[in-house]
Amino acid sequence: MYAQQISSRIHLNITGSYPEKDTFATILKIKHYMNRRFTFSALLAIVLITMGSWGFLVHKTVHQLAVYELPAEMVPFFYQNMENLVTNAPRPDMRRNTDSTEATKHFIDLEMYGKDAVNTMPEDWASAVKKYSKDSLLKYGYVPYHVVVMKGKLTAAFKTGNKDSILFYAADLGHYIGDANVPLHTTVNYDGQLTDQKGLHSLWESTIPEIEIGNYMLYSSHKATYLKNPQAAIWVAVRRAAALVPVMMETEKQVSKNFTEAQKFRVQIRRGRESKSYTTEFAKAYAAALKTSINDQLLNAANLIADFWYTSWVDAGKPNLSGITPNWSAADQTRLTNELTIFKENKLLENKLLLSKKADVKEE
Ligand SMILES: [Zn+2]
Repeated sequence: MYAQQISSRIHLNITGSYPEKDTFATILKIKHYMNRRFTFSALLAIVLITMGSWGFLVHKTVHQLAVYELPAEMVPFFYQNMENLVTNAPRPDMRRNTDSTEATKHFIDLEMYGKDAVNTMPEDWASAVKKYSKDSLLKYGYVPYHVVVMKGKLTAAFKTGNKDSILFYAADLGHYIGDANVPLHTTVNYDGQLTDQKGLHSLWESTIPEIEIGNYMLYSSHKATYLKNPQAAIWVAVRRAAALVPVMMETEKQVSKNFTEAQKFRVQIRRGRESKSYTTEFAKAYAAALKTSINDQLLNAANLIADFWYTSWVDAGKPNLSGITPNWSAADQTRLTNELTIFKENKLLENKLLLSKKADVKEE
C-alpha cells in the first residue's frame, strides 16, 4: 500500500516538485522503501545484473571511444590495452553481487538529499558528510564523490607506473563516470517503479542501445581536456543526467498511448514467476521519441572518461608511458592511425572494430 502512496507522492517529482524535507511521513515512507531495497539483497543481486548501470555494451563501447580521444603521449599505451579496458568496463557491476558496499557507488538518489539537492548538494565529500552524514551518503548513493576518489587512485597508479594498477583504476573510474551519465542513476525512481513504468531502466540503458547501436554516432570530435576541477565536472554530468529524467518519464507515457498493453509488454513465466518487459516494438518507438538523447549521453560519458583519464595522467606529472608500452612498432602506429580514420567516419561497427560487439571480447 505504501508503495502506492509513494508512487503518487513521487509522481510530483515528474512535474517538477521534490518532496519537501519537512514532509517527514513521506520521507519515512521512502526510507522504508529504500530499506526494503537494501534488505532483499538476494533479489537485488538478480535485478542488478540486468539493470545495474549502462548495459555492458555501452560501458564497453565508451571505454573504446575514450581511448581514441587521448593525446599522442597516452594513446599507444591505452590502445595497446584497449581490449583489457573494454573487457573490464562492467567489472564494478560484477562486484555488486559479492560486495554489499558496492551498489551505492553507482548511483545517487538525489531526492533523498532534500529539495533541489541536484543544485544544492556540496560537491566535495567532506562538506557532504557534514551536511548529510556519511551513513546517509553510503545508503542513498554517492557516485559523483566516488568518481573523485577513483580519479585520485588512478593518479596514484600513474605515479607508480604500474601497468596493472593503471589499467585497473582506469577501467573502474570509467565505469563510474559512465553510470553518472545515466539519468535513472540520479533518482529514487530508478526503474520507473514509483510511476508505474517499471522496466524503464534496462529499456533505456540496455535494450535500446543494443537495438540502435548500428544507427548511433560513435564519433566525437572531443579531445581529452584537462579538468581543473574534476569534482565540478562530474557534478555537471550528474545535473545533466538528472535533468533528463522528467522528459524520459513523460515520453514513455506519451509513447504508451499508441500501444495496447499486449503490444507494449512481453510477459514471460520464469521459474513460475511472471516477468514483464517492454517489447522490441515499444523500445523502437520510445527510442525514436527520445531522439538522440541516449546517443548523446553515451558520447558525453566517453568524452568525460577521456578527460578524467587525461587529467589523472597530467596530475601524476605526465609520466612517460613508453616503458609500459612494449614493442610499440611503426606497424602498430599505422594500425592506430587507420583505426582513428574509421572512428572519424563512424564506421567502427561495419569494419568489425567495435570491440564491445566482437564475440571474442567476453565478460569476465
Ligand atoms: Zn554500474
